[in-house]
Amino acid sequence: MRYLILSDLHANWHALEAVLQDAAGHYDQALCLGDLVGYGGDPNEVVEWVRANCATVVRGNHDKASTGVDEEELEWFNPVARQAALWTFAALRPENAAYVSGLPQGPIAVNGFQLVHGSPFDEDEYVLNPEEAGQAFGYMESRLAFFGHTHVQGGFIWNHSRVEVIPRTPLRIGSQEMTIDPECAYMVNPGSVGQPRDGDPRAAYIVYDSETAVVTFHRLTYNVARAQERIRQVGLPDILADRLSVGR
Ligand code: ZN
Repeated sequence: MRYLILSDLHANWHALEAVLQDAAGHYDQALCLGDLVGYGGDPNEVVEWVRANCATVVRGNHDKASTGVDEEELEWFNPVARQAALWTFAALRPENAAYVSGLPQGPIAVNGFQLVHGSPFDEDEYVLNPEEAGQAFGYMESRLAFFGHTHVQGGFIWNHSRVEVIPRTPLRIGSQEMTIDPECAYMVNPGSVGQPRDGDPRAAYIVYDSETAVVTFHRLTYNVARAQERIRQVGLPDILADRLSVGR
């Protein structure tokens, strides 16, 4: 089975549309690691695609904050994220809001691997460096987990009690492959579709082939200007549009 794994879409329909065109024909099933909404200007379009096409979806912190599931989370948000969450709350059509607010908490097991938004022990925890990954590996129930939340493509490998960092796809390259070694454990981050923060503004996703045990990391350019235009058009803070150009 070839899985298209998407994370942190953040209501960026133009990025998602480009990813879907790029990935068309290369996967059998789509999975989502959460943060469908928040920050971007097209929450309904993104949620409707996920509703119709993703076999398994775990919720992200923005999905909770933007639908009133977790009002405490909203308190922790910075003013820009909070403004975006409140706008999303008002903009989501009732059936889409109901879907997002009902999304399950990760981790969820799928065919021998796990899906989680943040970390296997806390859906809202950021796994950003080898130390944090070292702790997280202790909570995994399989040797392979896919996570998001940091908006950084790559992840970590537990290699005979050492944690290695999976290198990011270089800026001039569209994709790179990694073969899963059954001797190691993996936390793999597809990166963010809708708001990359790893210094590469290209949309990010992965395809995982469970038969060949190959993960392919993808990056692709999309129409950033149109996504920015939507953010400004709906009255969200300018910084949410600006950051899409730099991937920070
Ligand atoms: Zn996110």
